[in-house]
Amino acid sequence: EAAAPSLDVCDLSAWYAESRVLHGMSFDVRPGELLTLIGRNGAGKTTTLRSIVGLLQKRTGAIRFEGRDLIGMRPFEIARLGIGYCPEERAIFSSLSVKENLFLPPVLKSGGMTETELFETFPNLKARSASQGTKLSGGEQQMLAIARILRTGARLLLLDEPSEGLAPVIVKEIGEIIKRLKARGFTIILVEQNLHFARLVADRHVVVENGKVVDVMTNAELAADMGRVKSYLGV
Ligand code: ATP
Repeated sequence: EAAAPSLDVCDLSAWYAESRVLHGMSFDVRPGELLTLIGRNGAGKTTTLRSIVGLLQKRTGAIRFEGRDLIGMRPFEIARLGIGYCPEERAIFSSLSVKENLFLPPVLKSGGMTETELFETFPNLKARSASQGTKLSGGEQQMLAIARILRTGARLLLLDEPSEGLAPVIVKEIGEIIKRLKARGFTIILVEQNLHFARLVADRHVVVENGKVVDVMTNAELAADMGRVKSYLGV
């Protein structure tokens, strides 16, 4: 018998004003699992994450996290349950130092990483702790964005394209960090266009097309049949 899902998204639809973007998305993620959302630009991956954390309020269906339905909850209520969202644009405050950025969001739940643990996990952030946000490389900004949500006590991490715009060697480093987080028991949903990166870290892949789930495959299934997923992505 499989464990109850950590997050269970059921027939989720969501709108930007009058424009419907999600059309009945259904998928789940198990405790400790790393799931990717893959699909073409505009498929609705980012919108799915934004709907989960309540940044899109106009949504129907069910989003159950540890049994509680998030539909109708406000973003701060959802964050308090232990869900951390790392947006694609990373949202690092350029006028603040690394340390100030890190300490900006409140601790919402017990069990979050301490400063010492964070700097152990992200040694290059320690070296840069007094630097301003603007002085950071893209990779360092991405690490800071992840570190910041780990401090809040989130246990379910929603990461939107952490590899985007980064050099291969940095992508590899981010991949190692994500693997370590998974080993520590975090549950992770990763939006990812980079299939190579997705394969390196994930347990399962959910393919999104036109605001719907069109396929779900295990990492082994993906590795055995890259053509299947490439046909969806049109690559
Ligand atoms: P990408 O990788 O390009 O971000 P995605 O799969 O994450 O792709 P979304 O960003 O979720 O796709 O976009 C899904 C659809 O919603 C697209 O058609 C997009 O044009 C539309 N959309 C996104 N943001 C808004 C917005 N703020 N207002 C209206 N429509 C939007």
